[in-house]
Amino acid sequence: MAHTASISQLQTPPWALVNGDLVPYTDVRIHVGAEALTRALSVFEGMKGYWDSAGEVFAIRSPRRHYDRLCRSASLFHIPIRFSYDEFLAGLATLAGELLVPEKDLWFRPTLFVTQGHWGEATVADLVVTAFSQQKHDPDPMRLGVTTWRRATDVVLPTRVKSSANYVGARLARIEVRRLGYDDAIMLNDAGRVAEATGACVLIAQRGRIATPPTSESCLDSITVDVLEVVAKDLGVPFDRRPIERTELLAADECGLAGTISELTLVSEVDGASYEQSGLLAQLRQRYLELMRGDLALPGVDLVPLVDGSRQPVPAGAGVRVG
Ligand code: PMP
Repeated sequence: MAHTASISQLQTPPWALVNGDLVPYTDVRIHVGAEALTRALSVFEGMKGYWDSAGEVFAIRSPRRHYDRLCRSASLFHIPIRFSYDEFLAGLATLAGELLVPEKDLWFRPTLFVTQGHWGEATVADLVVTAFSQQKHDPDPMRLGVTTWRRATDVVLPTRVKSSANYVGARLARIEVRRLGYDDAIMLNDAGRVAEATGACVLIAQRGRIATPPTSESCLDSITVDVLEVVAKDLGVPFDRRPIERTELLAADECGLAGTISELTLVSEVDGASYEQSGLLAQLRQRYLELMRGDLALPGVDLVPLVDGSRQPVPAGAGVRVG
Protein backbone atom coordinates (compact mmCIF):
# COMPACT_ATOMS: atom_id res chain seq x y z
CA MET A 1 0.00 0.00 0.00
CA ALA A 2 1.34 3.47 -0.85
CA HIS A 3 1.78 5.84 2.09
CA THR A 4 1.92 9.20 0.39
CA ALA A 5 0.77 12.34 2.12
CA SER A 6 -1.66 14.35 0.00
CA ILE A 7 -1.26 18.08 -0.63
CA SER A 8 -4.95 18.70 -0.35
CA GLN A 9 -5.10 22.43 -1.07
CA LEU A 10 -2.86 22.55 -4.13
CA GLN A 11 -3.74 21.56 -7.67
CA THR A 12 -2.02 18.47 -9.06
CA PRO A 13 -0.52 19.56 -12.37
CA PRO A 14 0.91 16.85 -14.68
CA TRP A 15 4.49 18.07 -14.51
CA ALA A 16 7.14 19.50 -12.21
CA LEU A 17 10.73 20.38 -13.02
CA VAL A 18 13.49 18.62 -11.07
CA ASN A 19 16.99 20.03 -11.58
CA GLY A 20 15.92 21.21 -15.05
CA ASP A 21 14.13 18.01 -16.18
CA LEU A 22 10.40 17.55 -16.56
CA VAL A 23 9.19 14.86 -14.14
CA PRO A 24 5.58 13.73 -13.53
CA TYR A 25 4.39 15.84 -10.57
CA THR A 26 3.36 12.84 -8.49
CA ASP A 27 6.79 11.18 -8.94
CA VAL A 28 8.77 13.94 -7.16
CA ARG A 29 10.35 12.40 -4.04
CA ILE A 30 12.45 13.41 -1.05
CA HIS A 31 14.14 11.06 1.43
CA VAL A 32 13.16 11.37 5.09
CA GLY A 33 16.85 11.61 6.03
CA ALA A 34 17.37 14.78 3.98
CA GLU A 35 18.45 17.87 5.95
CA ALA A 36 15.55 19.65 4.23
CA LEU A 37 13.35 17.77 6.71
CA THR A 38 15.49 17.32 9.83
CA ARG A 39 16.86 20.90 9.86
CA ALA A 40 14.28 22.73 7.72
CA LEU A 41 16.91 23.53 5.07
CA SER A 42 14.70 24.66 2.28
CA VAL A 43 14.49 28.07 0.59
CA PHE A 44 11.99 29.03 -2.05
CA GLU A 45 10.34 31.71 -4.18
CA GLY A 46 6.79 32.50 -5.25
CA MET A 47 6.83 33.91 -8.80
CA LYS A 48 4.04 34.96 -11.11
CA GLY A 49 3.55 35.13 -14.85
CA TYR A 50 0.77 37.00 -16.67
CA TRP A 51 -0.89 36.79 -20.06
CA ASP A 52 -0.90 40.21 -21.69
CA SER A 53 -4.36 41.69 -22.24
CA ALA A 54 -4.43 40.43 -25.87
CA GLY A 55 -3.63 36.86 -24.69
CA GLU A 56 -0.64 36.72 -27.05
CA VAL A 57 2.37 36.69 -24.74
CA PHE A 58 2.86 35.16 -21.33
CA ALA A 59 5.52 37.04 -19.36
CA ILE A 60 7.00 36.57 -15.93
CA ARG A 61 7.51 39.45 -13.52
CA SER A 62 11.01 40.30 -12.24
CA PRO A 63 12.57 36.83 -12.69
CA ARG A 64 16.12 38.12 -12.15
CA ARG A 65 15.11 39.60 -8.79
CA HIS A 66 13.59 36.27 -7.73
CA TYR A 67 16.69 34.36 -8.85
CA ASP A 68 18.93 36.77 -6.95
CA ARG A 69 16.82 36.50 -3.79
CA LEU A 70 16.83 32.69 -4.02
CA CYS A 71 20.64 32.76 -4.35
CA ARG A 72 20.89 35.17 -1.40
CA SER A 73 18.63 32.98 0.77
CA ALA A 74 20.66 29.91 -0.22
CA SER A 75 23.97 31.60 0.44
CA LEU A 76 22.91 32.80 3.93
CA PHE A 77 22.06 29.18 4.74
CA HIS A 78 25.27 27.84 3.11
CA ILE A 79 23.34 25.98 0.42
CA PRO A 80 25.21 25.72 -2.90
CA ILE A 81 23.45 26.77 -6.11
CA ARG A 82 24.03 24.54 -9.13
CA PHE A 83 22.18 26.49 -11.83
CA SER A 84 22.68 29.79 -13.64
CA TYR A 85 20.04 32.48 -14.17
CA ASP A 86 19.68 31.42 -17.82
CA GLU A 87 19.12 27.78 -16.84
CA PHE A 88 16.60 28.88 -14.19
CA LEU A 89 14.66 30.99 -16.72
CA ALA A 90 14.77 28.25 -19.37
CA GLY A 91 13.30 25.83 -16.81
CA LEU A 92 10.40 28.18 -16.11
CA ALA A 93 9.73 28.48 -19.85
CA THR A 94 9.73 24.68 -20.23
CA LEU A 95 7.24 24.26 -17.42
CA ALA A 96 5.06 27.12 -18.66
CA GLY A 97 5.03 25.51 -22.14
CA GLU A 98 3.56 22.35 -20.58
CA LEU A 99 1.13 23.81 -18.06
CA LEU A 100 -0.21 27.08 -19.43
CA VAL A 101 -3.81 27.33 -20.53
CA PRO A 102 -5.46 30.35 -22.18
CA GLU A 103 -7.33 32.68 -19.83
CA LYS A 104 -5.43 31.56 -16.72
CA ASP A 105 -2.20 32.96 -15.33
CA LEU A 106 0.42 30.76 -13.70
CA TRP A 107 2.37 31.08 -10.49
CA PHE A 108 5.61 29.22 -9.87
CA ARG A 109 7.20 27.89 -6.73
CA PRO A 110 10.91 27.12 -7.16
CA THR A 111 12.06 25.26 -4.02
CA LEU A 112 15.70 24.56 -3.27
CA PHE A 113 16.07 21.93 -0.58
CA VAL A 114 19.03 20.09 0.90
CA THR A 115 19.03 16.44 -0.13
CA GLN A 116 22.56 15.45 0.91
CA GLY A 117 25.05 16.59 3.55
CA HIS A 118 25.25 16.86 7.30
CA TRP A 119 25.54 20.02 9.47
CA GLY A 120 26.88 22.06 6.57
CA GLU A 121 29.37 19.45 5.29
CA ALA A 122 29.08 18.19 1.70
CA THR A 123 25.77 19.97 1.15
CA VAL A 124 23.88 19.20 -2.05
CA ALA A 125 20.50 20.74 -2.89
CA ASP A 126 17.88 19.94 -5.51
CA LEU A 127 15.82 22.59 -7.28
CA VAL A 128 12.22 21.59 -7.86
CA VAL A 129 9.90 23.99 -9.65
CA THR A 130 6.15 23.50 -9.44
CA ALA A 131 3.58 25.76 -11.09
CA PHE A 132 -0.15 26.26 -10.60
CA SER A 133 -2.89 28.00 -12.58
CA GLN A 134 -4.50 31.11 -11.24
CA GLN A 135 -7.83 32.66 -12.24
CA LYS A 136 -7.80 36.32 -13.22
CA HIS A 137 -10.72 37.41 -11.02
CA ASP A 138 -10.44 40.12 -8.36
CA PRO A 139 -10.07 38.76 -4.83
CA ASP A 140 -12.52 39.81 -2.10
CA PRO A 141 -11.13 42.33 0.41
CA MET A 142 -9.56 40.55 3.38
CA ARG A 143 -10.39 40.62 7.06
CA LEU A 144 -7.30 40.36 9.25
CA GLY A 145 -6.52 39.87 12.91
CA VAL A 146 -3.29 40.66 14.76
CA THR A 147 -1.86 37.36 15.97
CA THR A 148 -0.20 36.73 19.34
CA TRP A 149 2.66 35.00 17.47
CA ARG A 150 5.59 37.29 16.65
CA ARG A 151 7.71 37.36 13.53
CA ALA A 152 11.23 36.06 14.39
CA THR A 153 14.03 38.59 14.72
CA ASP A 154 17.03 38.50 12.43
CA VAL A 155 19.31 37.13 15.17
CA VAL A 156 16.96 34.20 15.80
CA LEU A 157 16.08 33.21 12.25
CA PRO A 158 17.16 35.38 9.31
CA THR A 159 14.02 37.26 8.28
CA ARG A 160 15.18 38.44 4.86
CA VAL A 161 15.60 34.80 3.86
CA LYS A 162 12.60 33.22 2.20
CA SER A 163 13.03 29.93 4.05
CA SER A 164 10.49 27.26 4.90
CA ALA A 165 11.53 27.59 8.56
CA ASN A 166 10.15 31.14 8.65
CA TYR A 167 6.71 29.85 7.75
CA VAL A 168 6.37 27.64 10.83
CA GLY A 169 5.46 30.72 12.88
CA ALA A 170 3.35 32.15 10.06
CA ARG A 171 1.36 28.93 9.91
CA LEU A 172 0.67 29.07 13.67
CA ALA A 173 -0.42 32.69 13.24
CA ARG A 174 -2.78 31.86 10.42
CA ILE A 175 -4.32 28.92 12.30
CA GLU A 176 -4.86 31.17 15.34
CA VAL A 177 -6.68 33.96 13.50
CA ARG A 178 -8.67 31.62 11.24
CA ARG A 179 -10.17 30.08 14.39
CA LEU A 180 -11.36 33.61 15.19
CA GLY A 181 -12.95 33.96 11.75
CA TYR A 182 -10.29 36.13 10.03
CA ASP A 183 -8.78 35.42 6.62
CA ASP A 184 -5.15 36.08 7.56
CA ALA A 185 -2.92 37.40 10.33
CA ILE A 186 -0.84 40.51 10.84
CA MET A 187 2.38 39.56 12.64
CA LEU A 188 4.12 42.08 14.88
CA ASN A 189 7.89 42.07 15.30
CA ASP A 190 9.85 41.68 18.53
CA ALA A 191 9.34 45.39 19.32
CA GLY A 192 5.56 45.11 18.88
CA ARG A 193 5.45 47.06 15.60
CA VAL A 194 3.88 45.83 12.37
CA ALA A 195 6.09 43.30 10.57
CA GLU A 196 3.99 41.66 7.82
CA ALA A 197 1.17 39.23 7.10
CA THR A 198 1.83 35.48 6.81
CA GLY A 199 2.63 35.61 3.09
CA ALA A 200 2.64 39.28 2.11
CA CYS A 201 3.77 42.73 3.24
CA VAL A 202 1.52 45.36 4.77
CA LEU A 203 0.80 48.73 3.17
CA ILE A 204 -1.22 51.53 4.75
CA ALA A 205 -2.45 54.81 3.31
CA GLN A 206 -3.03 57.86 5.47
CA ARG A 207 -3.56 61.51 4.50
CA GLY A 208 -2.44 60.99 0.89
CA ARG A 209 0.76 59.02 1.66
CA ILE A 210 1.49 55.32 1.47
CA ALA A 211 3.69 53.63 4.08
CA THR A 212 5.16 50.17 4.59
CA PRO A 213 7.66 48.85 7.15
CA PRO A 214 11.29 48.52 5.97
CA THR A 215 12.89 45.06 5.95
CA SER A 216 14.70 45.89 9.21
CA GLU A 217 11.27 45.62 10.89
CA SER A 218 11.46 41.81 10.34
CA CYS A 219 9.75 41.51 7.02
CA LEU A 220 10.75 39.84 3.80
CA ASP A 221 12.57 41.94 1.24
CA SER A 222 9.50 42.07 -1.02
CA ILE A 223 9.85 42.44 -4.78
CA THR A 224 6.20 43.49 -5.14
CA VAL A 225 6.66 46.35 -2.67
CA ASP A 226 9.54 47.62 -4.84
CA VAL A 227 7.30 47.47 -7.93
CA LEU A 228 4.44 49.21 -6.10
CA GLU A 229 6.83 51.94 -5.02
CA VAL A 230 7.64 52.60 -8.70
CA VAL A 231 3.91 52.68 -9.53
CA ALA A 232 3.13 55.02 -6.60
CA LYS A 233 5.89 57.41 -7.57
CA ASP A 234 4.61 57.40 -11.15
CA LEU A 235 1.20 58.43 -9.77
CA GLY A 236 2.89 61.16 -7.72
CA VAL A 237 1.93 59.53 -4.41
CA PRO A 238 4.58 59.69 -1.63
CA PHE A 239 5.74 56.21 -0.59
CA ASP A 240 7.46 55.91 2.81
CA ARG A 241 9.37 53.00 4.25
CA ARG A 242 9.22 53.46 7.99
CA PRO A 243 8.22 51.62 11.17
CA ILE A 244 4.44 51.36 11.68
CA GLU A 245 2.95 50.97 15.13
CA ARG A 246 -0.08 48.83 15.83
CA THR A 247 -2.42 51.73 16.62
CA GLU A 248 -1.27 53.55 13.50
CA LEU A 249 -2.31 50.51 11.47
CA LEU A 250 -5.70 50.47 13.21
CA ALA A 251 -6.19 54.21 12.62
CA ALA A 252 -5.08 54.24 8.95
CA ASP A 253 -7.48 55.24 6.14
CA GLU A 254 -6.60 52.24 4.01
CA CYS A 255 -4.74 48.95 4.32
CA GLY A 256 -3.57 46.39 1.75
CA LEU A 257 -1.40 43.28 1.44
CA ALA A 258 1.41 43.26 -1.14
CA GLY A 259 3.04 40.14 -2.51
CA THR A 260 3.74 38.40 -5.78
CA ILE A 261 0.71 36.12 -5.49
CA SER A 262 -1.47 38.55 -3.48
CA GLU A 263 -0.57 41.38 -5.91
CA LEU A 264 -2.11 44.24 -3.93
CA THR A 265 -5.14 42.87 -2.12
CA LEU A 266 -7.28 45.36 -0.27
CA VAL A 267 -8.00 44.81 3.42
CA SER A 268 -11.48 45.65 4.71
CA GLU A 269 -10.80 45.17 8.42
CA VAL A 270 -8.10 44.59 11.04
CA ASP A 271 -9.42 43.64 14.49
CA GLY A 272 -12.64 45.60 14.03
CA ALA A 273 -11.06 48.71 12.44
CA SER A 274 -12.42 49.18 8.92
CA TYR A 275 -10.78 50.73 5.86
CA GLU A 276 -11.77 52.67 2.79
CA GLN A 277 -12.02 50.51 -0.36
CA SER A 278 -11.79 53.02 -3.18
CA GLY A 279 -8.87 55.25 -2.25
CA LEU A 280 -5.18 55.33 -3.08
CA LEU A 281 -4.52 51.62 -2.65
CA ALA A 282 -7.38 50.67 -5.00
CA GLN A 283 -5.88 53.03 -7.58
CA LEU A 284 -2.43 51.52 -7.01
CA ARG A 285 -3.80 48.01 -7.45
CA GLN A 286 -5.45 48.99 -10.74
CA ARG A 287 -2.21 50.46 -12.12
CA TYR A 288 -0.21 47.44 -10.93
CA LEU A 289 -2.51 45.08 -12.87
CA GLU A 290 -2.26 47.28 -15.99
CA LEU A 291 1.51 47.00 -15.68
CA MET A 292 1.35 43.21 -15.33
CA ARG A 293 -0.96 42.90 -18.38
CA GLY A 294 1.38 44.96 -20.55
CA ASP A 295 -0.98 47.96 -20.79
CA LEU A 296 1.50 50.17 -18.99
CA ALA A 297 5.31 50.21 -18.94
CA LEU A 298 7.47 51.74 -16.23
CA PRO A 299 11.26 51.94 -15.99
CA GLY A 300 12.78 49.48 -13.55
CA VAL A 301 9.92 46.95 -13.76
CA ASP A 302 10.59 44.05 -16.09
CA LEU A 303 8.24 41.44 -17.50
CA VAL A 304 10.17 38.78 -19.37
CA PRO A 305 8.19 36.90 -22.07
CA LEU A 306 8.39 33.12 -21.71
CA VAL A 307 5.93 31.70 -24.24
CA ASP A 308 3.61 32.98 -26.95
CA GLY A 309 -0.10 32.31 -27.48
CA SER A 310 0.68 28.90 -29.07
CA ARG A 311 2.77 28.03 -25.99
CA GLN A 312 5.99 28.19 -28.03
CA PRO A 313 9.06 29.57 -26.21
CA VAL A 314 9.85 33.21 -26.88
CA PRO A 315 13.60 33.58 -27.68
CA ALA A 316 15.64 34.91 -24.73
CA GLY A 317 15.73 38.70 -24.61
CA ALA A 318 12.93 39.17 -27.17
CA GLY A 319 10.20 41.66 -26.38
CA VAL A 320 11.01 42.37 -22.73
CA ARG A 321 8.16 44.76 -21.95
CA VAL A 322 10.17 47.09 -19.81
CA GLY A 323 13.85 47.03 -19.04
N1 PMP B 1 6.32 38.40 3.26
C1 PMP B 1 6.15 37.06 3.23
C2 PMP B 1 6.21 36.29 4.50
C3 PMP B 1 5.92 36.41 2.01
O1 PMP B 1 5.76 35.08 1.98
C4 PMP B 1 5.86 37.18 0.82
C5 PMP B 1 5.59 36.48 -0.50
N2 PMP B 1 6.78 36.03 -1.08
C6 PMP B 1 6.03 38.56 0.90
C7 PMP B 1 6.26 39.14 2.13
C8 PMP B 1 6.02 39.42 -0.34
O2 PMP B 1 7.19 39.20 -1.08
P1 PMP B 1 7.18 39.29 -2.68
O3 PMP B 1 6.58 40.60 -3.00
O4 PMP B 1 8.61 39.24 -3.06
O5 PMP B 1 6.37 38.16 -3.17
